[in-house]
Amino acid sequence: MKIVVLGAGVIGVTSAWYLAAAGHEVTVLDRRPEPGLETSFANGGQISAGHAEPWARPGVVPKIFGWLGREDAPLLFRPRADWAQWRWGLGFLRECIPGRFERNSRTLSGLAIYSRECLRALRRGTGIRYDELSRGILHFCTSQRDFEAVARHAEAVRAMGISRQLKSAQECLAIEPALDDSRSPVLGGVYTPEDESGDARRFTQELARLCAEKGVRFEMQRTIDGLEAAGGRVESVRLGAERLCADAFVVSLGSYSPLLLEPLGIRIPVYPLKGYSITLPLTPEHADAAPTVSLTDEAHKIVISRLGNRLRAAGTAELTGYDTSLNAIRCDAIVQRIRHLFPALGAIEPVDRWAGLRPATPDNVPVIGRTRMRNLFLNTGHGTLGWTLACGSGRVLADLVSGRTPEVAFRFFG
Ligand SMILES: Cc1cc2nc3c(=O)[nH]c(=O)nc-3n(C[C@H](O)[C@H](O)[C@H](O)COP(=O)(O)OP(=O)(O)OC[C@H]3O[C@@H](n4cnc5c(N)ncnc54)[C@H](O)[C@@H]3O)c2cc1C
Repeated sequence: MKIVVLGAGVIGVTSAWYLAAAGHEVTVLDRRPEPGLETSFANGGQISAGHAEPWARPGVVPKIFGWLGREDAPLLFRPRADWAQWRWGLGFLRECIPGRFERNSRTLSGLAIYSRECLRALRRGTGIRYDELSRGILHFCTSQRDFEAVARHAEAVRAMGISRQLKSAQECLAIEPALDDSRSPVLGGVYTPEDESGDARRFTQELARLCAEKGVRFEMQRTIDGLEAAGGRVESVRLGAERLCADAFVVSLGSYSPLLLEPLGIRIPVYPLKGYSITLPLTPEHADAAPTVSLTDEAHKIVISRLGNRLRAAGTAELTGYDTSLNAIRCDAIVQRIRHLFPALGAIEPVDRWAGLRPATPDNVPVIGRTRMRNLFLNTGHGTLGWTLACGSGRVLADLVSGRTPEVAFRFFG
């Protein structure tokens, strides 16, 4: 089949890869000059299959109220006259109910573990390099209260079949000695040794190159204006005055997916959830002071990944519409925390500060599947876990388009 993939972020490119592998003729469209220049550009780098959980969970609501009005809060709601934003916020609160949290966690974990397997197979098959590290992810705690909470949580998720190793303070430091100098001592944590990290942008661009070698066509700097439908099918994609026809279409436009679908009467609960990252260049003299195990700082909700000779730290979530401007206070909060955790890096100035819009659903479960337009498929809404879920999502999407049953159980759209 002739298939057009809309969007060349990590989700669009992995979709193209698996569609091409299934024998389809694939064209990818994107408004940017290169793949991976929007939300997949500078994320936290974690392939966190062992922690593939929604942010909407019991216990988070009182924290959100405690953070209200704090400019450096990990999760910030900036109310706007935007019904989509309020609907998303209310949906998020509903997903905090315990039964829903468990259901969503199971769904996400299943896809995430499958996705990690797909990524490993892809790596073995292609030799793709993207500053990857397979040293696990350590969630560390700097307060006793947080440690007790993560220990209780690790026990609860064990009952769901998700395995996490509880680690003492000494064990955490043995896993990541760079934490030894932290100005807030590490009191314990949870380790998932099977987890990985790597540069999502580099992966996206390298995979796009491999896709092109397989015959996938990339049409960059092409702004998609709409979809033309008739008789329950999409006939073409509108690019200015031009129309591009195909047998099937896959929407992977990240946070912009709902805007393209709305005129067709297809509603998906995706809304932008803004986050920030900073990237530090590491000189040889500082290399040992920076961690190599990917980390999650439980207290500040920051993820930290070593990407070759750079250190990436990312976090914070802001519900503020389609706004990608940099907020100095929120970026500085990440910089200060990195200096606090790794004082020996204090002299290094972060060169790259970045903000991106996570395409978030209230339950964090992505929207993957066929719409009521028979040849229109969705692979979008991966929120905080797009890099973790990318390969598995691309693979199941290609299975659905090809009429095969995906290998993993999932709540598919439609
Ligand atoms: C601060 C931060 C930290 C994160 N950390 C992690 C992490 O550690 N692990 C993890 O798993 N996930 C993480 N994520 C989430 C992850 O980065 C995203 O889920 C993922 O990048 C989404 O990919 P995407 O392909 O759906 O969207 P995008 O990468 O945004 O791709 C969408 C593409 O569509 C194109 N596009 C949009 N509209 C149009 C149009 N009208 N015409 C043409 N092209 C268009 C854009 O140019 C873009 O290239 C993080 C996100 C943020 C913001």
